[in-house]
Amino acid sequence: MEKRLPGTTIVAAMDVPGQRERAPLGGDSPRAAFAVSAADWFVVVATEPGVTLVAEPGHVFNWLISGSERSVLLDTGMGIADVAAAIEPHAERPVSVVNSHVHFDHVGGNHLFADVAAHELAPARIAAGCDLDHVEAYRRIAPGFRASFERLRDADRDGWFVLGPEEEVRDWPAPEIEAQGWTFDPPPPVGSLVDGDVIDLGDRSLRVLHTPGHAAEHICLLDERAGLLWAQEQAYYGPQLLYLDGSDVTAYARSARRLAVELAGSIRAVYVAHCLRPAVPPRFLVELADAAEEVAAGEAQLAPVTEMFGERVLEADYGHFSIQVPAVETPAER
Ligand SMILES: [Zn+2]
Repeated sequence: MEKRLPGTTIVAAMDVPGQRERAPLGGDSPRAAFAVSAADWFVVVATEPGVTLVAEPGHVFNWLISGSERSVLLDTGMGIADVAAAIEPHAERPVSVVNSHVHFDHVGGNHLFADVAAHELAPARIAAGCDLDHVEAYRRIAPGFRASFERLRDADRDGWFVLGPEEEVRDWPAPEIEAQGWTFDPPPPVGSLVDGDVIDLGDRSLRVLHTPGHAAEHICLLDERAGLLWAQEQAYYGPQLLYLDGSDVTAYARSARRLAVELAGSIRAVYVAHCLRPAVPPRFLVELADAAEEVAAGEAQLAPVTEMFGERVLEADYGHFSIQVPAVETPAER
């Protein structure tokens, strides 16, 4: 892929007329059909003009970011339903996809779009598999999300009322997935992004910030003028997964501090990818940087826990978020 200097304005790669090519319906492709209709799976809601949350509630948040000339869809989700159909009424044409990183839950609809860009390290990560060893684990645990969410909702009705209509959990379509499978085979991205690139959407531009840590290819998008950061899996209220293949807690701490320092006082919202809260306050970037540095320096209190996929890891618990790192292998466990 062509090498570019940071600061390049991406226009050519985004200028693909007929912005997406649908996978053939009813053909031989295992991705010919989706488990659930877009209407039954996504919650698509504007959070402010030009910013649309494309939620797979309880699973992952994708974002449609629009300017006067074009839209970017940041991440394409889990591949359970047709994300292109979900965004169709809300998007400026043409639509280009940008992947925050290439784990399975962010690339599930990539094949629906002709114009997909990701960090320059992404193709190698796609070739190595998109964290696919966790797909089976996710399939195993996702049916249990409903019961857990019902407990939260019951407690919420005791008088807390933090849950709005968007704070939902979509039921796992187990029979449909059983019948037609759930596979990931994202085509190689056509666009290669590096830190400092600017994506021009007309009256809005997005700067690419390379934030390795959770994944080596992870990027955030920054709209400096609007004061918005899309942090995706770099920052959210919940467990920060830094024990995966390709994760690096030292790099993560450096990325977290960079965001906290560079964006201090200049952003008003941080949009994210996971758990029930789609936006966190900018001050969280500082909390996260402090915590991540503590963990990276070996100064945090770490406790052994079983993480969401059933793996034994070490966790530093900060209340509304935690940082999970690989368990130290003892000779007996080898
Ligand atoms: Zn991820």
